Amino acid sequence: MLVNDSIAIDAGAIGFYSSPSEQEKIRHVLLTHSHIDHLASLPIFIENVFTGRPDPVIVYGSTPVLESLQSDIFNNRIWPDFIELSKFPVSRFLDIKTHEPNQTITIDGLDITAVNINHVVPTVAYIFNDGKSAIGYISDTAETEEIWDRLNKQSNLKAVFLEVTFPNSHQWLADVSKHLTPKTFAQELKKLKRDVPIFAVHLKGRYRDLVTQEVNDLKLPNVHITKFLKDYTF
Ligand SMILES: [Zn+2]
Ligand SMILES: [Zn+2]
Repeated sequence: MLVNDSIAIDAGAIGFYSSPSEQEKIRHVLLTHSHIDHLASLPIFIENVFTGRPDPVIVYGSTPVLESLQSDIFNNRIWPDFIELSKFPVSRFLDIKTHEPNQTITIDGLDITAVNINHVVPTVAYIFNDGKSAIGYISDTAETEEIWDRLNKQSNLKAVFLEVTFPNSHQWLADVSKHLTPKTFAQELKKLKRDVPIFAVHLKGRYRDLVTQEVNDLKLPNVHITKFLKDYTF
């Protein structure tokens, strides 16, 4: 998911998307958590956009996410240690910056707040706010509270992206892996007191059609399945 072209939320697919010169427009990567579907193409992406310039791509995450990046990905077994190599001027692959829950950072005029949500590893949602419009992005999570309190207080809220991963028949799997089904997705949405469009994300590929059908069957107004490669403007 790209925000204003230059900011990526996670890196599941960005290294496989379009061309290296297109990928180069992405200057910031915000990681929600350490699961592989959110990191899979990060090493490829960083390699694709490496030009030797002194201001490389910046990767943001909470302390446990950045620790996982170092020990599980850039560990010289899965991939070269780009973090260590980036200490040398000739190999500035990336910068890493800590962005802890409840902290707001500003990138290109956009205030970005990380908020803890309820997943099997430390995971954050993000609130993006350019002053005119605010957007909530919530994936991956089971039932959660704080992000809804925050979004309810956000007077300029324009949209919320919310995960719905498994079909209702897989409620047990959703519960143990801390995800939502259409049933629990609908329960979460009751916590939102603002009338804004909702965009469903993170549908498991194997079940995309079934989850789409079950979301549509909820007959909730203003709920949409997020489309791939489509621009949304708020
Ligand atoms: Zn996950
Ligand atoms: Zn995921």
